[in-house]
Amino acid sequence: MRRMFRRDRRKAFAPNIPPILQEANLAFDKGEYGRAAEMFEQIAQVADARGGRRAPLFHLQAGRARILARQTALGMPSLKRGLQLLAERRQLPRLYQAGMRAINELNEHGLKNEATEIETWLSSVLPDVHAFDAPPAKRPTLPTHCPACGAPLRPDEVEWLDKATAECGYCGSPIRDEDQH
Ligand SMILES: [Zn+2]
Repeated sequence: MRRMFRRDRRKAFAPNIPPILQEANLAFDKGEYGRAAEMFEQIAQVADARGGRRAPLFHLQAGRARILARQTALGMPSLKRGLQLLAERRQLPRLYQAGMRAINELNEHGLKNEATEIETWLSSVLPDVHAFDAPPAKRPTLPTHCPACGAPLRPDEVEWLDKATAECGYCGSPIRDEDQH
């Protein structure tokens, strides 16, 4: 009964959210990083193979989960692939933000060599990194997690459809600015 209810409620939100994405987000939130990473790697591979626009985010989250699981060697290829896709697609502000975030997180885990590796690569594809240093404009307030798929929402990672509506980068559900309710 409970399963039915959950599935129905999910359906009411957005019909096409893959259960594996919700599982992966849930595992990540619970701190089950190794499990979350395996699922994000699967999701990322499928998205990557069909040139999906969410593939970079999935690779980056897979890499992040591996780093948090202390599986650095498994995580680095995912981080690099995510950043590489952003570079190939010329999504430069996003590449800058994702790259800086990866560098910071690697440093926080004491992974200096890996952080330097990403930094060196990033400055080779973004020669003028400081062009992106401007402080971000004031963004509307988002809930911390996507109500449909459970992904963490960051103002710099969502797509803004208009001033008050963002699109979840993981599942594509529209999210309203909480201040506008
Ligand atoms: Zn979502």
